[in-house]
Amino acid sequence: MEKIKMKVPLVEMDGDEMTRVIWKMIKDELLEPYIDLKTEYYDLGLKHRDETDDQVTVDAALATKKYGVAVKCATITPNAERVREYNLKQMWKSPNGTIRAILDGTVFRAPILVDCVKPFVKTWKKPITVARHAYGDVYRDVEYRVEGPGRAELVFTAENGEVSRQTIHDFKGAGVLLGMHNLDQSVSSFARACFNYALDVKQDLWFATKDTISKKYDHTFKDIFQEIYKKEYEARFKAAGIEYFYTLIDDAVARIIRSEGGMVWACKNYDGDVMSDMVATAFGSLAMMTSVLVSPEGFYEFEAAHGTVQRHYYQHLKGEETSTNSMATLFAWTGALRKRGEIDGINELVDFAGNLEAASLKTIEEGVMTKDLAQLAQLPDIKVVNTADFLKEIRARLDSML
Ligand code: NAP
Ligand code: MG
Repeated sequence: MEKIKMKVPLVEMDGDEMTRVIWKMIKDELLEPYIDLKTEYYDLGLKHRDETDDQVTVDAALATKKYGVAVKCATITPNAERVREYNLKQMWKSPNGTIRAILDGTVFRAPILVDCVKPFVKTWKKPITVARHAYGDVYRDVEYRVEGPGRAELVFTAENGEVSRQTIHDFKGAGVLLGMHNLDQSVSSFARACFNYALDVKQDLWFATKDTISKKYDHTFKDIFQEIYKKEYEARFKAAGIEYFYTLIDDAVARIIRSEGGMVWACKNYDGDVMSDMVATAFGSLAMMTSVLVSPEGFYEFEAAHGTVQRHYYQHLKGEETSTNSMATLFAWTGALRKRGEIDGINELVDFAGNLEAASLKTIEEGVMTKDLAQLAQLPDIKVVNTADFLKEIRARLDSML
């Protein structure tokens, strides 16, 4: 069989530990035998980030702006322990944070569903994608501990010197204070990323805030979404047969639990932090959660939602057998290849991504899986396989499909 040709390279960001091991296995076993893989390679492994003073992360993000589509392996975000372990020059920032800041993107997390792993919520039949706003609110707040009586005020001094002053509270005793902010520009980017993503996957978009209580702050989010929807997206949503739905956050939570799934759920920063963990857990496993960063200009960076699976890596280094689930990393690759194929008009690439996903789902449905899933799957006969054998099993099914 002739290999599939690519026109424009994918930005490939390699990473750390067990996911780096899996990365190479996926390329060797499931991609390179079928595709004339064209990538621009950036090594975001911690050692190389340190050698380049983290310039490689910036370069990789800029390359994503140039080519439009990237695929990223999980990477270590260094802490004090990692600084010692890798003898680092300094405690480099989270690569995901750096890339997100350069692309100004929104992260969409969606579970991979298999029939034999039932969500904890019985009504959920389709994936729920959580989109989290990644700027401001309580994550960029200013806090103050009030130790005794006094007046707290909210003061804004405009550039022309005009002052607005409101009393927050006249304290009679000790308490706490918090100031937070957001920007119309950031909320607008978030809204556009969500509308574009919903159109892309042809799913309804839900958005919720607490605008009845927060009549200026949360109401601004609601208004910006509504305005952008009316002006730029309503006609396209109608044409695609999907809808945009706004409700209060408490109502959204109740409705999500009773729903069948199958929607994109846009959340403010804090709501997204909390709800994405709830949704991920309720669907079963972190190893089955995909993640894609979408910029307002329409650049995509695909990855797995989990980390570098450090515990398994140390077992691997000791020569012990591992049973690490490669599904989310594999789906990062298929997501990126499909997007590349769509943009460049290469149908074979789009079809290959679909076939590879189907072969991997079939493997699990037939009872062949890694340890993490075996603990959750409801099947009479389960064959637990190691990291490498899982990929070989997928390859066998892929070959019989092609
Ligand atoms: P982790 O890598 O997500 O793993 C936590 C645990 O979840 C594992 O020990 C394992 O449980 C289970 N698990 C996660 N992915 C799995 C998979 N594919 N197959 C099977 N089991 C899986 O989180 P961590 O150990 O807390 O973090 C390790 C490193 O990852 C850290 O340095 C962190 O900075 C980094 N990180 C990177 C990203 C990213 O690049 N996007 C995200 C999160 C964390 P058992 O041990 O019980 O088998
Ligand atoms: Mg969190």
